[in-house]
Amino acid sequence: MPKKASSATSNGLESLFLDGLKDLYYAEKKILKTLPKLAKAAQSEKVSAAFEKHLKETEGQVDRLEQVFEMLGKPARGKTCPAIDGIIEEGSEILEEYKDEPALDAGLVGAAQAVEHYEIARYGTLIAWAEELSLKDALPLLRQTLKEESDTDEALNALGENDANRRALQAA
Ligand code: FE
Ligand code: FE
Ligand code: FE
Repeated sequence: MPKKASSATSNGLESLFLDGLKDLYYAEKKILKTLPKLAKAAQSEKVSAAFEKHLKETEGQVDRLEQVFEMLGKPARGKTCPAIDGIIEEGSEILEEYKDEPALDAGLVGAAQAVEHYEIARYGTLIAWAEELSLKDALPLLRQTLKEESDTDEALNALGENDANRRALQAA
């Protein structure tokens, strides 16, 4: 027999939503520190510009998360996200192992897409929970960020296909 569901309990959907918010707050702040390193390391101007552009967007995303915390009457606090730590760690390995190699940008684009995919998964879930919880004011903010993550993923895809992957292949 399933236990009686109640989102009002401390272990309910509201609590899951808040944990998800903290997870993303930690992740976005970590990404804020990482994107400048990627922009600096990228060999092509276009790839570098894509990272710079997303850095600006990420600043706004942190701000939106803070607004959602405020709507809930909770302090904006991060909670360690081992997933983003791991994904960024893998990106750092690419940075070191492919430094000065023609495949560097292809590797960085792929690493950045892994970050976007994590964010897309998490924001998608948060949006579904916000709908359940009728957090109507939070929805447009979360949706706007999700769109930026998806657009970034698509832009990176195009950069890989039209630029970075080709350079990596031609040098092989
Ligand atoms: Fe983000
Ligand atoms: Fe996480
Ligand atoms: Fe992102």
